[in-house]
Amino acid sequence: MSSGTKTFKHVSYLWEESKAAELAGDEVALLIYRSNLLGADLRLTNYGGGNTSCKVISKDPLTGTETEVMWVKGSGGDLGTLKKNGLAALYVDRLRSLKNVYRGLQYEDEMVELFNHCIFDLASKAPSIDTPLHGFLPFKHIDHLHPDAAIAIAAAKDGKRITKELFNGKLGWVEWRKPGFELGLELKKCLDENPGIRGIMLGSHGLFTWGDTA
Ligand SMILES: [Zn+2]
Repeated sequence: MSSGTKTFKHVSYLWEESKAAELAGDEVALLIYRSNLLGADLRLTNYGGGNTSCKVISKDPLTGTETEVMWVKGSGGDLGTLKKNGLAALYVDRLRSLKNVYRGLQYEDEMVELFNHCIFDLASKAPSIDTPLHGFLPFKHIDHLHPDAAIAIAAAKDGKRITKELFNGKLGWVEWRKPGFELGLELKKCLDENPGIRGIMLGSHGLFTWGDTA
C-alpha cells in the first residue's frame, strides 16, 4: 500500500451461530452474549456506553400468571463485560403504567425512583435512566449504542436530513434530549409516526436498533 492511502475497515462480525445455539431458548443468556460482542468493539460503542435489552414472557411469582419482563443493562458497568448481575429486570406493564403518574419534564428524577417499584427480579442491578428508552418501544430485542459511524451522522449539522437520505427513511430521527422518561415517550412517538422504521437516530448522541431475536 502506498503511503497516504487510507483504508476503511468494516466492523468484524463476531456472532457465532454454534455459540448462540448452545444458548438457544435462554433469551437473557443470548442478550448477554450479544452485549459482550457489541461491547468488544469500541467502534460500536465506547467503554461504559450504550445499553441493550430483551423482553421475555415469565411466570409472575406473585400471581402465577404469564407476564412480560424486560431485562435491560442496569446502571453502570460496560457491555463488554456485562453479566446477569449487571442487568435489571422489570415488569413491562408497570413501567409503561408510569405514564399515568408522570408529571412532566421537571419531574424526571422522581421517575427514576419509581423504576424501582417495577422490579421483577430481586437480584436486579439498579435500573438506569435509559430504562424507559427500551421500555416504551415494543420490540423484543433492542440495542442502544454509540457507534463512531452513527455519531458522525447524529452530530452533523444536517444529521436529520443525512439520516433520512442515507437510510431511505428506514431510520427515524429524534432530537437530542437527556435520556429519561420524556425521551422514552418521544422514541415511541417517533415509531408511531413512522411505522416500519428499523431504528432511530438520536441527534448528537447515537443509535437505537431492534429485532425479533438477539
Ligand atoms: Zn446513549
